[in-house]
Amino acid sequence: MSETPSSGAPSAAPYPYEAPVSQALFDRAAAVTPGGVNSPVRAFRAVGGTPRFMVSGKGAWLTDADGREYVDLVCSWGPMILGHSHPEVIAAVQDAVARGTSFGTPGEGEVALAEEIVARVAPVEQVRLVSSGTEATMSAIRLARGFTGRSKVIKFAGCYHGHVDALLAAAGSGLATFALPDTPGVTGAQAGDTIVLPYNDLEAVQEAFHRHPGEIACVITEASPGNMGVVPPLPGFNQGLKDACATNGALYISDEVMTGFRTSRSGWFGIDGVVPDLLTFGKVMGGGFPAAAFGGRADVMAHLAPAGPVYQAGTLSGNPVATAAGLAQLRLLDDAAYTRVNAVSEQIQALVSEALGKEGVAHTVQSASNMFSVFFTDRPVRTYEDARTQESYRFTAFFHALLANGVYLPPSAFESWFVSTAHDERALQTIADALPAAARAAAEATPA
Ligand code: PLP
Repeated sequence: MSETPSSGAPSAAPYPYEAPVSQALFDRAAAVTPGGVNSPVRAFRAVGGTPRFMVSGKGAWLTDADGREYVDLVCSWGPMILGHSHPEVIAAVQDAVARGTSFGTPGEGEVALAEEIVARVAPVEQVRLVSSGTEATMSAIRLARGFTGRSKVIKFAGCYHGHVDALLAAAGSGLATFALPDTPGVTGAQAGDTIVLPYNDLEAVQEAFHRHPGEIACVITEASPGNMGVVPPLPGFNQGLKDACATNGALYISDEVMTGFRTSRSGWFGIDGVVPDLLTFGKVMGGGFPAAAFGGRADVMAHLAPAGPVYQAGTLSGNPVATAAGLAQLRLLDDAAYTRVNAVSEQIQALVSEALGKEGVAHTVQSASNMFSVFFTDRPVRTYEDARTQESYRFTAFFHALLANGVYLPPSAFESWFVSTAHDERALQTIADALPAAARAAAEATPA
């Protein structure tokens, strides 16, 4: 997220220290905002304790309202691949702001950002800018339905595509099942056209196409999932999806909101080379601002209004400040930047594995380029079911011990960790110093 729906009750574990200013802010927030947060996972419900209210970020570091510093391994859930407050991104934003913040007209910045995306990701012939990843996937699905004249959508359990009604459906039992809505407020009608299948299971996909001939508009999948922890596609899985879609007249939508411009300069497409019909983007392409996009085949995109009949719009779409930030960030992301982020990621993965190994904690580190996460199980994780059967109570102890020692992890065992080009020796040393106690805490943890 990922700001995926978080689950699990707050843990009863004692927390290594208090955060009085954050707690006071959280109390104020809870009075005026449901659960005290504007996106559920931020509330720490899965790990318990006080969410840290951050006041500033610089490079790899965040500072909270109590004045403590943390090495940031969340990076705003992916976007901050150059670290916080990168001077060139800040300068681009300041320059844009000085010229005005929103015009509701076309502007050159949007064209330049679209050109940059098209230049980087070969299957994107045309692109439409929006303001969030949710909008991107919602619009891509509407377009796929409009283009094919079909209703049904295949998604995979454990893949998150934002809080689009039709996509807030997780797996029911059985191989291929019509989804029940996963949250109150999503009606059976909204979820009823969604078919949820187990991830990495091509047979289930074939069977669904077989059972619903001529009904499936699209298959949407995270290009390489990071929202159940990092669970890369098995070799041939994405190509198999593409082929099944091509054979059955459906569109293959690769959700690159998380992986796009993070896992390589052309995202996961740059790694597996499977050509989607449509792709969705967000996070990194916004440079820390609300900018996202969907794009792909020109003949499909031609169905979008005003060129075609499928309606899609946005007051702040292509906002000049957001596009300036995104463009500045993308232009800084050259091969050297990816080499740097990948190297940092590998170093941290090795440190984590070594520390947990020393304490005899069963774990599996999985990665997709520089995205990675740690599962508290010694079995490989290939599906959402696999991810859910890890010993996540160990993560809670691990998380709090790291937090107490200045390392900020995603507050859930089912999230990718993110690093940046700004994670330097001091950041790595802080992590290395904090890990032994955290690994010990994980080893000593018991189920709640
Ligand atoms: N798709 C994926 C793969 C995501 O990880 C996310 C968010 O984490 C989204 C879509 C939704 O993006 P947003 O939170 O910007 O709406």
